[in-house]
Amino acid sequence: MKESEIKAMNRSFGILNERRIKIMDTPQTQELREKVIKIREHSISNLGELLQKGIKTLETNGMEVILAENSEEALQAVYDIVKDEKMVAKSKSNTAGEIGLSEFLKTHDVEVLETDLGDRIVQFDPESRPSHPIGPASHLRMVDIARIVSRELEMEVEPEPRSILNSVKADVLEKLGKCRVGITGANSVAAEDGAVVTVHNEGNISLVSMLDTHIILAGIDKLVETVEEAVSVVKLETIYATGKRVPAYMNVVSSPSKTADIEQIHLRGMYGPNRVVVILIDNGRSEALEDGGECLLCIGCGSCVATCPVYSVMGNEFGYRRHLGGKGVFLSQFIEDESVCYDSGLFYCTLCGLCTVECPLGIETNHLMENTRKKLVKKGISNVKHCEIKDNIKKTGSPF
Ligand code: SF4
Repeated sequence: MKESEIKAMNRSFGILNERRIKIMDTPQTQELREKVIKIREHSISNLGELLQKGIKTLETNGMEVILAENSEEALQAVYDIVKDEKMVAKSKSNTAGEIGLSEFLKTHDVEVLETDLGDRIVQFDPESRPSHPIGPASHLRMVDIARIVSRELEMEVEPEPRSILNSVKADVLEKLGKCRVGITGANSVAAEDGAVVTVHNEGNISLVSMLDTHIILAGIDKLVETVEEAVSVVKLETIYATGKRVPAYMNVVSSPSKTADIEQIHLRGMYGPNRVVVILIDNGRSEALEDGGECLLCIGCGSCVATCPVYSVMGNEFGYRRHLGGKGVFLSQFIEDESVCYDSGLFYCTLCGLCTVECPLGIETNHLMENTRKKLVKKGISNVKHCEIKDNIKKTGSPF
């Protein structure tokens, strides 16, 4: 990331952190936090059972379910559905980023219309990558955003937030009218009820999930037991991600759109989708579970990213694809392999532990990173400079 981007990102994170701090320590938030820790620990300890239950209830509710072992299977599953489309609409999804969905569809001549404002701006800028799980354009200054949007839309857009919003919105709405397939992520999936919960502030998920076909991408770690539990999870995520008690919208999808208003005869595809396909993606999560599964407790709030000292100087170069920061680095060894984990910044971490303090789930990312380093060093994957320092100390007692 450029220096100006790092500065803009840190300024955005500063505003976000001030807003978050006001409600993070309230008794209500702490009570919710305790509750969600129990929910997530139960979910991860019973993931296999929840997965089987979830598949069954989602299907019983009329949704199609595909279990994808890895990125390739997930991408193929999406492609099989969208291969005849020129353009598909998409909302923000870290799982889509993880499997490289937009890049894959682009190479297969299917254009992806990002509908989240931040994601659309980043999509317009070939040199940019998202810098925060919830605020992907946090690293861009308003003047740069206006320049990028003006160039892309071939019109003069003022460096003023309302002008930028109006221009991007008009363009997205015009294109959305031509899309028949919408792709969203999932913030939580309720296995017992067979329902998917998503949260958003812009209203775009509501639009995207009303197209003829709705594809939902979810890591298997998103499973919890009930809709009530899912709502608690997304509420805590919202508090830690945005500093707001509730998001503008919480959507619960438990079937395709349907009606029984004519003699109780069930018909699909009233105003919403005729078809809902849930793609549950493993992609290394089972392996992470065998390793202890602590990283799978994550609810994706980005709190660790917005406070990490390494991230504050390196930005999104510290992380793996859309899984930003230390947690993403750790997870990458299971999604890909240990050399990718090394390249994602395993040895950049200062092990300060601020991520653990800031994490609502108390995930000890610094310890996970340290243990992974030990494992990799034993396998001969280590930092050359570190080895030089170690050898110097052994030989002369000095690191230099
Ligand atoms: S590791 Fe914790 S702080 Fe970081 S995104 Fe996940 S839940 Fe939030």
